[in-house]
Amino acid sequence: MMILPEPLDKLMQAFGKLPGLGRRSAQRAVLHLLTDKSAMEIFCQLLQEAQEKIEVCACCGNISSQNPCHICADEKRQLKSICVIEGVADLWAMEKAQAFEGRYFILGGVMNMMAGVTAEKLNIPKLVEQVKQNNIEEVILALSASVDGQATAQYIAESLEGVDVNVTTLAKGIPMGADVDYMDEGTLSLALRGRQKF
Ligand SMILES: [Zn+2]
Repeated sequence: MMILPEPLDKLMQAFGKLPGLGRRSAQRAVLHLLTDKSAMEIFCQLLQEAQEKIEVCACCGNISSQNPCHICADEKRQLKSICVIEGVADLWAMEKAQAFEGRYFILGGVMNMMAGVTAEKLNIPKLVEQVKQNNIEEVILALSASVDGQATAQYIAESLEGVDVNVTTLAKGIPMGADVDYMDEGTLSLALRGRQKF
């Protein structure tokens, strides 16, 4: 059996734990860095810089070089809508679409009792507080269509019962450019139920 030097073994294990990187990809990335000293130096420097300069926004959970983040600090954004999303990548996707001018609330995942992900861990009580304190008029639940995602959306909607706020969710249906005959029954049925006047 091949025995790797301990630092190398530890590095590969650490890389292998990153999302989207399996054992083989981790091995490739580590070998590349070890054979290219300047790439390794830049990588270490950038990691350290990110650790020092990037912080989590206390209002919305976004990651930014300032706190509150540039979105929460932007006075041009409207204050009456909060879009609830699972992660920072969702915020980037929404911002890229340039279709939303309100603010966000990042949960950091969806509820999963088996894995110990509770409403408290996702800051849902903080979200409810923000909605009440800032007189928010609309909470848009933009969570994934998975069982856990929808259960979380349901939990948030129930937590906001009795609060004077309009709780909405993203429309579900056929993606742009897709053919109807390629749609699964669930998507097609949701699209049909959510039909609008032409
Ligand atoms: Zn923020």
